[in-house]
This record gives sequence, structure tokens and C-alpha cells, in this order.
Amino acid sequence: MNYDAIVVGSGATGGIAAKELTEKGLKVLLLEAGPALDEAIFQRPGLKRQVNTWDRIAAGATGQHTQARCSWFSPDKRELFVNDLQNPYTTSADPFLWIRGRQVGGRFQSWGRVAVRMSDYDFKAASHDGYGDDWPIEYQDLVPYYDSVESFLKITGRKDNIANLPDGQFSNEAGLSSFEQKFQNTVQDKWPERKFTPWRYVATDATRADAEGKTHTTSPIAAAAATDNLTLRPNSVVSKVNIDPATGNASGVTFIDRETKQQHEVRANVVMLCASTIETVRLLLNSGTSTFPQGLANSSGVLGQYFMDQTNGVVFGSVPGATGFELVDGKHPGDNHGGFYIPRFQNLTDSSQYDFIRGFNIQGMVGRIPVPNHIPTLFGLTVQGEMLAAKENRITLNTRKKDAWGIPVANIDIRMGDNERRMAKAQMAAILEMVNTMGWNIEIAASILDIHNRDNLMPNASWFERTMFKLSYQKSLALGSAIHECGGARMGNDPSTSVLNKYNQSWDIPNLFVTDSSCFVSNGAGGPTLTTMALTARAAEFIASEYNGSANLTKAV
Ligand SMILES: Cc1cc2nc3c(=O)[nH]c(=O)nc-3n(C[C@H](O)[C@H](O)[C@H](O)COP(=O)(O)OP(=O)(O)OC[C@H]3O[C@@H](n4cnc5c(N)ncnc54)[C@H](O)[C@@H]3O)c2cc1C
Repeated sequence: MNYDAIVVGSGATGGIAAKELTEKGLKVLLLEAGPALDEAIFQRPGLKRQVNTWDRIAAGATGQHTQARCSWFSPDKRELFVNDLQNPYTTSADPFLWIRGRQVGGRFQSWGRVAVRMSDYDFKAASHDGYGDDWPIEYQDLVPYYDSVESFLKITGRKDNIANLPDGQFSNEAGLSSFEQKFQNTVQDKWPERKFTPWRYVATDATRADAEGKTHTTSPIAAAAATDNLTLRPNSVVSKVNIDPATGNASGVTFIDRETKQQHEVRANVVMLCASTIETVRLLLNSGTSTFPQGLANSSGVLGQYFMDQTNGVVFGSVPGATGFELVDGKHPGDNHGGFYIPRFQNLTDSSQYDFIRGFNIQGMVGRIPVPNHIPTLFGLTVQGEMLAAKENRITLNTRKKDAWGIPVANIDIRMGDNERRMAKAQMAAILEMVNTMGWNIEIAASILDIHNRDNLMPNASWFERTMFKLSYQKSLALGSAIHECGGARMGNDPSTSVLNKYNQSWDIPNLFVTDSSCFVSNGAGGPTLTTMALTARAAEFIASEYNGSANLTKAV
């Protein structure tokens, strides 16, 4: 069968691609490398302790040595993280922590569900500070798609009119805990530019779908399945995008069955890559042809370049004199999601105050983590800073090493630059000064640079746990640990310096689209997921409007 479109990857972006295309009448084959997971996995209780050293060691010994470094990892949810032995990768500069899941729904099953918009402070950042390139789109271009994705996902949030964190379509009102409210008041008295808003997030079970894609009504895959235009094929590891030599168009893909290891070829008029940043770049690099010997759609030579993550830091501890937790937006501990969010407050207008460009945001929760009433109230803050797009930071193919299906692995060559180092230092100083102003007890303060409370690290933990933390934190907070990796197949206005045009369409192959975060030109300081889903919806609308039942799509300029 010749499908109208093949979508590779069923995560946050693949789900939206499938939904938008099927709802517009296209017959879509959604190929997912991993299995459909049993609903029971999602009903397990999850992480109970902050640093579960033994659990992580055990997971490491059974094939998840990289995934177990993720602070969100828990043995109860191990199926949501890949097996590192089957899915290896290599690095050739700084360490890089590649955290991912291979299952129907992708990381949309395991993400933190914080869904924030980017703004023209991001899309037009180069015009503002002279570094790098602007995106080929501006904020207004994405507004209708942000609106529709948010409405579909029923985002919980609060409108706060913050210029660089535009308000969205919120279906439910988000609040702050009484601890967070007090934190906001104290911080804003001292630093009025540090604006607070509650997390903007997707409610607990909004994103799941079963093997047929039909469980939850707010799952994009379930919405696609409801059209009867969707064919979902789990366990399909796509190894190559195929090209019709006569036309130069994409003709479909080759995939390997995850279980039988049999190879299959499938055909479609349009191919959309939504396999996640590194996987999509890897797939394009592995699909080279005589016309594109350095990787498919790579006439510019920039495929793989300008790869980024964010600089990461954390502070955990407890609130002196307080015990237990509060229910805020949810009705029971299981749906007590949410927290506070302080969007980037540096270099928005006056750039003279800081020794770095761009900036960082801070988010966290105080008094929400469910603990028994007699246990001290906990807080956790994380800070993430924008990494600049640099040509030298790149993904390449390591043809000497293969995954369990014989596909060459990705090599990640990424380094922190001076701007990242200066920002990482400033961002830790910023969260520590706020926590110290509150007088809270710090158990862990660590960043990509250092442990910042060595003298009093994890005072209630055993010697063994402290030692393990000291030995492992640098790899656990390495680049990649923000799990906001992006770039590598960037959009642009110029085909000689970008892979994709403003509709995420390959400059070289007009019926090939890439809409995961590999398309990002810069990564901002927030989470990329809502933006990449909005970009996907926009690209899908473009495809549907141009589609004439053949592989000949107009190339947008
Ligand atoms: C613990 C955690 C917390 C996070 N929290 C947040 C947050 O709060 N906010 C935020 O914005 N972001 C967050 N993220 C990041 C977010 O999950 C990703 O940005 C988002 O899922 C990316 O969507 P995607 O579709 O590009 O990739 P994914 O969701 O990773 O989906 C990609 C899919 O493609 C499949 N695939 C890969 N290669 C192939 C192949 N060759 N053939 C077939 N299928 C393939 C994979 O199996 C996977 O299912 C978090 C991530 C994690 C892991």
C-alpha cells in the first residue's frame, strides 16, 4: 500500500503529526521503534526517594547505566527508558547524557509535562544580541498552533502577562502552594524582576494511548486513531529514508522489525521525521545517497551541526519547621503536579548587568512532594540555561559501532563554551541566594560545574550514598541532563546554511519534513516540547494544504 504520509516516531511530535494529518483526511502510517506498553506500568507508584542509589546501581547493572543517571529515573518506570546496551551512542568531547524512551508515545509518556511557549526573545534573539541566527518564523506565526495544541492537551496554567513567557490557552487554573506563595513574595520583594507564574502543564494521564492508539481522549495518537485514517505499527525501527532515483523525492522508509529483525520497505507520498532530535539526525545521516553522500537533505553540509542542550543545576532540601505537603491543583497526591516557574529575567532589555548573553529560567516546587505528615516538607529547584548554537557542536554517525539492529550509532561532539560556563555559575548563584534568603535546609546543591554544598552534602544520607553522589554527579548533570536537546537539522531562510525551510520542509527534498526539536535554530531556556508540537501542527497544515495525492509537493520559499 502507498500511504499518503509516513510519520517516523510516535512521541510528542509524531503523535501531533499523526493527529493533524489524519484529521485532514490523509492516510498515515505511524512507525514506532518501541513496543506499546501495558497500562499497568503507568499505574505503578513511581519514584519514592530523591536519590535512590541502590536502585540506580541495580538498573545500571542490567543495561540502563546511562538512563539510571536521570533524576526522573525510577525502577518502577524503567520501561519508559531505553536499554543502553541495545541503544548505545558515543561521545567525543564533553560527556553527554542522552535520556530517552522507545515506546508508543515516546517521551510524551515520561516527560515532566511543563508546556511553555517561546517568544520573540527566542525566535529573534540574534537580532537582539547579535549572536547566531534568527529563526525563519516569528512568534505570531506560531500562535494559532500553540493555541490549538494547548486547547487539545487541556493545559493547566495561569495568565500572568509576562512578555517573554506568553500566556496560552489554559483549560484549568493553576495555583501555587502556600510555601511557593511565600517564596514568591520574599523573592519579589528583593528581586522584582524575578517574576513568578505557576507551572503550565498537562494533566496526569492526558498523553497515553494503547496498542491500537485508543485509550485517552486527550492523547494525540488516540485522536488520530479515531479518524480511522491511522495505521500504527509499533516495533518498527526505521533505518533509512528511501529516495526515488527518478524524481529525487522521498519514496518511503525501510524499517527493521524490533523483535524478528526482518527488514521491510513501506511507501508514502510524504515522509515526516519525528523520531526526536538525535534520532532524526542519525536517520538522515544514515540515509545518504550518491546525490547526498554526507547525509540525506544535506546539500548545505550543516546536518548534525548546531546541536544544543541546556546548562543544568539543582537544589533540593527541606523547609525548617514545616512537615507534610499540600494538595494544590490536584485532588489526590497522584495528581499533585505543578510548581512555580520563574522565566528568564536576564538580558531582556539591559544586557550590561551580566557577563553572558541569553539567560536561564528557574522552576521548582515547594511543599508539593507527597511525604507523610511527620516528615519535613520538601522543596526542589532546577535551573536551566540557554546553550548557544555553535557549528562545532555536532552529531555525526559512528559507523564503527552499531545498535542491536545493526544501525550505526550517533556520535555526540559537544562542548560547553565560555558563555555556558559563565551562565552556569550565575544560575547556581541565583538559586542559592534565593534559597538562602528563605533559610531553607539544603541537602543537595549541584550543577554541571560542581557540588555547591560539599561541606554539608546530603546530611541525612549514608556515607556510601554521599560518596556515590560525589563520584557520579558530573556525569549525571552533564549536558543532556536537561533533556531539552535540540538542533542538528535547523530551519532557516537560506538553503546554504540550513536544512529546513520555515515550514520544516527539507530544502532538498520537498516531500520530506522534520518537525522534532532538531529543527530548532536556538533553544531558549525553557522546555522545547510545546513549541516543537506547535511547529509540527503548522507543518502538517502546510502539507495538507499542498497535498495533491502525489509525492510532488510545492517547495515553500
Ligand atoms: C523525564 C523527562 C522529563 C521531561 N520534561 C519535560 C518538560 O517538562 N517540558 C518539556 O518541554 N520537555 C520535557 N522533556 C523533553 C520531552 O520529553 C521531549 O522534548 C519530547 O518528548 C520530544 O518529542 P519528540 O517527538 O521529538 O521525541 P520523543 O517524545 O522522544 O519521541 C520520539 C519517538 O520516536 C521513536 N523513534 C526514535 N527513533 C526511531 C526510529 N529509527 N524508528 C522509529 N521510531 C523511532 C522513539 O522510540 C520515540 O517513541 C522531558 C523528557 C524526559 C525524558
